[in-house]
Amino acid sequence: MSRYTNNAKNALPTRDRIVLLQVTTFLALQVFSVPMSAVESVETPKDKKTTAPAWRENAASTTSRSRPSESAPPTPTSETRSGDIATPRDFTIALDIGHSAKKGGAISARGVFEYEFNRRLVSELFQRLQSSHLVRPFIVNPERDEISLLKRAGEANDQNADLFLAIHHDSVKESYLKTWEVDRKTRKYCDDFHGYSIFISQKNAKPLESLGFATALGRALLKAGFTPTLHHVAQENRLLIDKEKGIYAFDDLIVLKAATMPAVLLECGVIVNRDEEKNLNDPNYRSHLTEAISDAIESLAGAPTR
Ligand SMILES: [Zn+2]
Repeated sequence: MSRYTNNAKNALPTRDRIVLLQVTTFLALQVFSVPMSAVESVETPKDKKTTAPAWRENAASTTSRSRPSESAPPTPTSETRSGDIATPRDFTIALDIGHSAKKGGAISARGVFEYEFNRRLVSELFQRLQSSHLVRPFIVNPERDEISLLKRAGEANDQNADLFLAIHHDSVKESYLKTWEVDRKTRKYCDDFHGYSIFISQKNAKPLESLGFATALGRALLKAGFTPTLHHVAQENRLLIDKEKGIYAFDDLIVLKAATMPAVLLECGVIVNRDEEKNLNDPNYRSHLTEAISDAIESLAGAPTR
């Protein structure tokens, strides 16, 4: 991800900012009025008694879960700040496909560019959100042009998006990679790390709201049985601001700090991990992933005040 930053000089946020962020996590949730009914009772995979993958086990209970849209209808309340409550589907989300066809990002354990994983996941998430009565999704750069990071944020700004979500897939530091043979080609992999991670920039125009959505997203992913990876601390010295939910601060991520609306980057999983790559190629696994992401987005879109 380092290629997505400005000069590394400013890459580390100050401790003050972090203390402020930690203290204001609760406040951030209130700013967005994320319905707690949609995010509480997080069941971590630790609690499981079986050896089945957590996401698979949780799949059985997904139909009985109450959807955020049901638990939090967009009803105006006396606490409304601006008075101009958005009607359903006015909530616009910009879905950014990380990287591009020519600059594909990380390379998976089986030799596939990250961009292909990002594009597929965004397309599936877009389709799911299109059936939501709460959200209007649009994809940044669906034409696969080579556009700058600033332009990605600019497109979201131009469309007055309420939320910016960049979708990526993760790798590890080069020194952790080993080699193996796939189809008679030498590929690089690392099975030591797996899971999702969430990034926000405290230099974004709406840092508290960004953290609010990151928190809702982390809760939804945990609830669906996914687990965060914490390797960005030791390998890139990233600042972990919520260990349980896998939320990091990465202030100079350009797309996040240039967006004028709350913005979050999600690394969906570690594609240099051979098992995780397999999972991410499983449509059923991705369906659970996009369902969890959609739940978090809808919890925000359906919040009574924003
Ligand atoms: Zn990436």
